[in-house]
Amino acid sequence: MTTVETAPIAPLAWQPPAGAVWSGRWVDGASAMPVHDPEDGTLLGHVTDASPAEVDQAVTGVATAVAAVGSGAGWAAWQRREALEAASRLVARHHEVLAELISREGCKTVREARGEVSRAAETLRLSAQQTGLLTGETLPFSDTARGAGRLGWYTREPVGVVAAITPFNDPLNLVAHKLGPALAGGNGVVLKPAEATPLTALAFVQILLDAGVPADYVAVVPGTGATAGRALVSHPLVDLVSFTGGFRTGNEVARAAGAKKTLMELGGNNAVLVLDDADREAAARAVVAGAFGVAGQNCLSVQRVFVAAPIADRFVQDVVDATETLRVGSKSDPRTDIGPLIGEREARRVQEWVAEACDGGAELRTGGRREGAFHWPTVLTNVPARARVMTEEIFGPVLVIERFDTLDEAVARANDTRFGLQAGVFTAGLESALSVAERLRVGAVMINDSSDFRIDAMPFGGPKQSGVGREGVRYAVEAMTEPKIIAVRHGG
Ligand code: NAD
Repeated sequence: MTTVETAPIAPLAWQPPAGAVWSGRWVDGASAMPVHDPEDGTLLGHVTDASPAEVDQAVTGVATAVAAVGSGAGWAAWQRREALEAASRLVARHHEVLAELISREGCKTVREARGEVSRAAETLRLSAQQTGLLTGETLPFSDTARGAGRLGWYTREPVGVVAAITPFNDPLNLVAHKLGPALAGGNGVVLKPAEATPLTALAFVQILLDAGVPADYVAVVPGTGATAGRALVSHPLVDLVSFTGGFRTGNEVARAAGAKKTLMELGGNNAVLVLDDADREAAARAVVAGAFGVAGQNCLSVQRVFVAAPIADRFVQDVVDATETLRVGSKSDPRTDIGPLIGEREARRVQEWVAEACDGGAELRTGGRREGAFHWPTVLTNVPARARVMTEEIFGPVLVIERFDTLDEAVARANDTRFGLQAGVFTAGLESALSVAERLRVGAVMINDSSDFRIDAMPFGGPKQSGVGREGVRYAVEAMTEPKIIAVRHGG
């Protein structure tokens, strides 16, 4: 393992407008906040640090536009489809600029960032398709005597104004997962991106405007969670809050939102079970990729592995060997596998949790090293049950591997967490795979894969403290629209 090499600094290919966009023009806010590259602290630019008054302007502007056209008929479904299709093509066309923004202000290597841009184009394509599926049905009024002489149906109507709050770790695709469905459903939307990664969000909103989204249907208010975020979610003209972030923040958002519709995509502490008949080497490769991609800053990251005792020693060795081939380094170097955490403070927190586990008797099998915002991929075994690396979401490059004797024990330990996002199980046996899948209390079980797999069309989310409702384009569109009944009393 070598000291982290950082690449020479080049200016950003895309310089953002300084402001929050509101009513279709870039408006300079009264105060600005800097955006830094977490790798080395380079100043990348400034964005508006929106005040509650600026958030109010943005929300009021969007709410006025949406209210003016009542049910959204002013921006017809076919126009929404065309705009979202055009946006998907523009995202693909600006692939490299977007990948650079994601990678420079965030924590993804340039390779990982390119993958995210392709997914965002796909999310927009899926959103465009949903405009043709906003259907209702006729209602069975004649099934009751009281319904005689009536004819009725329902349609799906936009909820109105959607507030979108997004985290730093997928600064483009998670924004697309909120704005795409919100717009497909005919809503106006106000976005508050993560403090660390507003530049990608601003570029994305510019792309939506260029693609033909009406200027007053979309606004972005960069700023802090405590000020801009809180002002947005508590605004009385917001009809639905779509939040992705940590559980603690989610609780604050729910309190500030009050009795509004909310969609919440929160944290994970995902488990993978490796049974004794599994393809051990394939499982080790998938676990290493799932645990250490984006330096573990991924809600689907593999954090805990439970492996059958007869293959445990060899599996741990496979994982350690594969981990030690990973290259920690600058995000801009295409050879890099593991970039930085989003800040040195986060890297220090991860280091502290690892030290706590080791003080309690855990064995450090590899990693454990930190330099600035970089934390080396770390594998721990024999971890005390109540150590934070076991019970909390680590959101860093740390993997815990524990052995099990019976399948019941493995399932119980995998379920022993407040979270329930996704899980994986490796086995050659269909019966064991299905039995484990049925008993794990999570939103999705990947058989012969790690927890870290998703397609953007899946209903996405989980039970327990992993969230409220489901995202995934079609399911988000469903949540962001509501049925409206029209009934005719014709007396026949
Ligand atoms: P975070 O909770 O710190 O912040 C998320 C967003 O909320 C940011 O935009 C932040 O500014 C804003 N915010 C903070 N306080 C607020 C408040 N009081 N009111 C309104 N908004 C507020 O999360 P993060 O560190 O950016 O991201 C990491 C977390 O996100 C992890 O827990 C991860 O699991 C979760 N996440 C979940 C999913 C999912 O789909 N389930 C996907 C990605 C990330």
